[in-house]
Amino acid sequence: MSRNKIIVLSIICGLIILMLFLLLEIKPEIIVYYDNIEINDEINQEVFNDFDLPVIKCNFLNKDVSNEVVVTSNVNKDKLGKYEINYNLKKFIFNINKTITVNIVDNIKPIILLNGENEVHACSIQSYNEEGYSASDNYDGDLTDKVIIEKENDIIKYTVKDSSNNEKYITRKILTSDIEAPKIKLNGKEVVYVKLNEKYNDEGISVSDNCDTSISNISIENKVDYSKVGVYEIIYTAVDSSNNSSSIKRYIYVYDPNTGVNINGGKKGVIYLTFDDGPSTYTPKILDILSKYNIKATFFVTNNGKDSVIKREFDEGHTVALHTATHSYKKVYKSVDNYFKDLESVQNRVYKITGEKPMIIRFPGGSSNTISKNYSKGIMTILTSEVLLRGYHYFDWTSVIEDAGSCSSKKNEVEKENCIYKYFVKGLSKKRSNVVLMHDIKSYTANKLEDMINYAIKEGYTFEKITMETEQIHHKVNN
Ligand code: ZN
Repeated sequence: MSRNKIIVLSIICGLIILMLFLLLEIKPEIIVYYDNIEINDEINQEVFNDFDLPVIKCNFLNKDVSNEVVVTSNVNKDKLGKYEINYNLKKFIFNINKTITVNIVDNIKPIILLNGENEVHACSIQSYNEEGYSASDNYDGDLTDKVIIEKENDIIKYTVKDSSNNEKYITRKILTSDIEAPKIKLNGKEVVYVKLNEKYNDEGISVSDNCDTSISNISIENKVDYSKVGVYEIIYTAVDSSNNSSSIKRYIYVYDPNTGVNINGGKKGVIYLTFDDGPSTYTPKILDILSKYNIKATFFVTNNGKDSVIKREFDEGHTVALHTATHSYKKVYKSVDNYFKDLESVQNRVYKITGEKPMIIRFPGGSSNTISKNYSKGIMTILTSEVLLRGYHYFDWTSVIEDAGSCSSKKNEVEKENCIYKYFVKGLSKKRSNVVLMHDIKSYTANKLEDMINYAIKEGYTFEKITMETEQIHHKVNN
């Protein structure tokens, strides 16, 4: 090769190289900005947020040619995934491509909501009765089924992950303490009648507890003296393993079968004058005498007589108590329902007159009556416990003056008066309280009352009315 050729070739090569440099220098570049930041490869975008195409800049020979750039994009802002935005510019001899990846992502954690409190009482974490929960996610929606429950010590941990692996957990604290007392039920009856010098075989109690499967700490306080007439209590106490305790009582009536009367002693030397079946036309005279001696008595009223007399009994400080509305054995002892309907009828009467609903009652014929057998077998057994359960206190008597009994068949008023006086005197005892059964529907009772009171005062007795605090006198039930 000649020297000249070499020189020419060298020059051509030099020019080509220079051209290439020049071309590189003028080659346009597409610059992508997103949120004012230059992006070279990818954008992360939270799902559902509005997505606007990035801003581009592109110059060719100092001229803005960005509007000549062809943009293609398939981004769906509402669906997780990788998308591409392609940029293409054909200019002069250049064909320039640029691709940006857009990642539609979910970075937001799910939400868990607990039913019930975050701190709950339970016997143990295992026995805690799950109150429920719900989980939801901005993208996946309901995730309740995906919640994982772990129990450790006294904490229940609820964890859930969404499809993008965002994890959320919350906890519920179990306060493992037993704050509930055991539940006790008596086996057998609440009120038990036992003959003097016989013994009651304790039927015990049934106990259940919210936490303990069985309760062994049961104590029984039994001070019944079967050799002495009286009303006694057996007290059962159950204590659970957390020291919650509850008690229940059984009443034991030790009675003397010869008298058929349960006398617990009560207030010794006190007389409770009790008048049944009124009011009547004789009641005002009785009230006058009681008023004269400032004695308070107890009236077991019916639906008979005048409202104004009941009002006077009440206003003058006596106890207005209930006997039943009709006093009809065949009616009130036909059924438990009948009895209470009748009782409530007279109770409402008294309520309308006095504004108070008496809870002190006396059964027609007393709780020991046998006449009720003719109308319903066993009804007195049911009624005597049912009235107590409903909050009533019922009173029988320790002595009668026979004003509605044997004395009523005497020939004349004087004999009747003498008869009831004798029974009155005979029935009193200083060793116990005296609940004396009388009837304010009898003329001779009203006429002889002052003499009877004078006798009792002379003998040192005092008088009281029956209240809800007075110890109840119950006969032995015979039906
Ligand atoms: Zn009566």
